[in-house]
Amino acid sequence: MMLPKTALRPRSVTILGSTGSVGCSTVDLIVRHPERFEVEALTAHRNVALLAEQAHRLRPRMVAIADPALGPALAEALAGSGVETGAGPAAVAEAAARPADWVMGAIVGAAGLAPTLAAIRRGAIVALANKECLVCAGDLVIAEARRAGARLLPVDSEHNAVFQVLEEERSETVERIILTASGGPFRSASIEQMRNATPAQALAHPNWEMGAKISIDSATMMNKGLELIEAHHLFAMPSERIEIVVHPQSVVHSLVAYVDGSVLAQLGPPDMRTPIAYALAWPERMRWPAPRLDLAQLGALTFQAPDPHRFPTLAIAREALAAGGAAPTVLNAANEVAVEAFLTGRLGFLDIARVVAAALERLPGRPLSSLAEVEAVDAEARRVAEDLIGRF
Ligand code: MG
Repeated sequence: MMLPKTALRPRSVTILGSTGSVGCSTVDLIVRHPERFEVEALTAHRNVALLAEQAHRLRPRMVAIADPALGPALAEALAGSGVETGAGPAAVAEAAARPADWVMGAIVGAAGLAPTLAAIRRGAIVALANKECLVCAGDLVIAEARRAGARLLPVDSEHNAVFQVLEEERSETVERIILTASGGPFRSASIEQMRNATPAQALAHPNWEMGAKISIDSATMMNKGLELIEAHHLFAMPSERIEIVVHPQSVVHSLVAYVDGSVLAQLGPPDMRTPIAYALAWPERMRWPAPRLDLAQLGALTFQAPDPHRFPTLAIAREALAAGGAAPTVLNAANEVAVEAFLTGRLGFLDIARVVAAALERLPGRPLSSLAEVEAVDAEARRVAEDLIGRF
């Protein structure tokens, strides 16, 4: 006899990076289905006020703030609530290691690597919103997941789309993966406009509301370069069988082409809560009132090849993936530093790609076999990128 859903044990959930864009969307979905989830831990970088508010709503067992200086403020905000608090990277790692069935890895950037690995090493179901984990340590993350029996669920909308239409048991019949890209705010801008682009212009994404780092990555299209590397690791697909196509409407989130000529696509509104809901409920599905697609109203969906001249980041990312070893780690770290320099007015928009390419030229692509080695290369690449930015 089938048990009614409510009689099943709720899924216990931890959100690493609960106050960011993906974290907040995850909280929103959990609040809509209180009977399906119980929250083990929440972590945030610096936003004590929002973390405390989320803790009051979701009643987790523990919350952790990454900035150690903010520990007392967090403890005060949750005094008397019964929620355990912690501060600093060790507390974030402890939150990740607690026994949740399902962990959302939504910390932005390479900072998410160690806590996400802690969840993977315990064999949890890990929803991966942090693409930098796979970019800077893909071989390590996949090997650890396999060893621990962890299940990785891609949350990045393109990879979630591929995951939904990929017939895993017949993966040898997959010919290629086609990742779609919106083209970002500068899809049809001139090179001159891009040279003089301000952070405000680059942050104004036409379709998606996202954090600052990924919005700039979307404007340079480095986001798609990082996603190429991410797809390579998640789906064991060589670079030459991953195609990138610009699709300005962001309705087709990605496609899988099979050997018989069939191409399967996943479509949906450009709202991250759809892929997050898929991951939260996997292997089931859950209801949420997403804006429904009205194809007749959309009328036309268009596709075009990316322009390699205005968006050199795609070729740079393909080269880094081909070089392997430390090269993708260098790519990711140099890009994080260059994006930050652009956002704070220290670097021109077109120079972001130049800094990344120059950092890759300076640092050799040696093999990496441990988290410590990945972290050492990451730190070295950041120093090199800062040095290069000083010369631009
Ligand atoms: Mg994406």
